[in-house]
Amino acid sequence: MAHQASAIAIVGGGIGGLTAALSLLHAGFDVHVYEQMKDLREVGAGIQISPNASRILHRLGLAGKLAAMGVRPLAWHQRRWDDGRTLLHTPLGETVEAVFGFPHVQVHRADLLNALRDSFPAERLHLGHRFAGCTDRGDHVELSFENGARITSDAFVGADGIHSAVRRALFGDASPRFTGCVAYRGLVPAARLAHLRLPVESQVWMGPGKHFVHYYVQNQALVNFVAIVDQDDWARESWIEPADVAQALAAFEGWHPQVRAILGAVDETFVWGLFDRSPMAQWSVGRSTLLGDSCHAMLPFMAQGAAQAIEDGATLAACLAKGSPQDIPGALRRYESLRLPRASRVQTASRENKTRFHLPDGPQQQERDAQMASGSTDWSFKAVQWLHGHDAGIVEEGA
Ligand SMILES: Cc1cc2nc3c(=O)[nH]c(=O)nc-3n(C[C@H](O)[C@H](O)[C@H](O)COP(=O)(O)OP(=O)(O)OC[C@H]3O[C@@H](n4cnc5c(N)ncnc54)[C@H](O)[C@@H]3O)c2cc1C
Repeated sequence: MAHQASAIAIVGGGIGGLTAALSLLHAGFDVHVYEQMKDLREVGAGIQISPNASRILHRLGLAGKLAAMGVRPLAWHQRRWDDGRTLLHTPLGETVEAVFGFPHVQVHRADLLNALRDSFPAERLHLGHRFAGCTDRGDHVELSFENGARITSDAFVGADGIHSAVRRALFGDASPRFTGCVAYRGLVPAARLAHLRLPVESQVWMGPGKHFVHYYVQNQALVNFVAIVDQDDWARESWIEPADVAQALAAFEGWHPQVRAILGAVDETFVWGLFDRSPMAQWSVGRSTLLGDSCHAMLPFMAQGAAQAIEDGATLAACLAKGSPQDIPGALRRYESLRLPRASRVQTASRENKTRFHLPDGPQQQERDAQMASGSTDWSFKAVQWLHGHDAGIVEEGA
């Protein structure tokens, strides 16, 4: 088939870029990834892979690796910050698989990135290539890199994360917005927390101006935590920095002993300024498009940033495969029309959860808790059906 000869260049070898590359390779395209780093590295932190994303990773042949490296939590458990009262308890484990057809898996980010990289031909991954510029010549795109390399391609995908240089090149400058939240993240050896007898659950503790998430990764050898705190500004130059554990502990003064015990066992933590962007009007120009955080960076409060990037790759590959090789801009427009409204909805829901999760105790918090108790919001199956039940690989008209 003619489209099989189309060459696709992806800038950015993160979770989004590599998933898209694998999806395109499986669809028969001549795909190459250009990554700025000399070695692929990921921060030491966990990530939740919900069924809408695990469905795609399974389809790409990663089911075995995902099972070997990941932890399948038995439940999603939202709790009150001080007394630990259950606000919502959704069974996951085999139940989520029965409902959505695919598992919910918790993994170490580096493990996921390694699994993607190991599945992708090394000669197609070009490390040490920092994007410098692009020119659309009508029938092809030219790309240049800071190391002096120049290439041409039939289509070009920017998957270079929240500070995307490709987005700037295509759509001009627009800085990401500081969301008024910082996140302390880290990993604790599970053996150190054995006395807490933590269940194999993804637990989300919600309280005034903060929330705290923890879950196991790496075959339950490590407990991943994310401690989110409202903060007025982010004055640091870098968006992620080593942080003082005592500072994180002080922010959670008065919280449930389980939360404090996890933080108290931490050796090393990093603090992230959390940035997002407002939904864009457009992702594609001619033969170029964006995916992942470069076009829909979001707060992690739906645990969907990477999942949406993974969905992007599946839809992009399906649109290019179904489209005419003579009309790549048309296929990219179709991709954008399917993905942009959905990713924007998740961005908005993630932003709303900042307010919702961090309500001070009072009437609004009581109303939220009553909604959660009714089982129709947050991570109840009913509330996430639209999100976790979606198959991003289906792109037929009317899908
Ligand atoms: C605290 C926190 C918790 C999170 N938890 C979850 C979760 O549980 N579930 C979930 O789905 N998501 C989660 N996310 C979101 C998720 O991490 C991101 O949405 C996801 O990593 C985006 O993937 P990406 O490939 O688009 O970008 P990135 O992972 O940022 O990758 C971009 C790649 O592009 C490269 N690059 C950048 N600039 C250039 C350039 N000029 N030239 C060449 N290469 C370049 C970078 O080196 C990098 O490798 C969380 C985020 C945070 C901050």
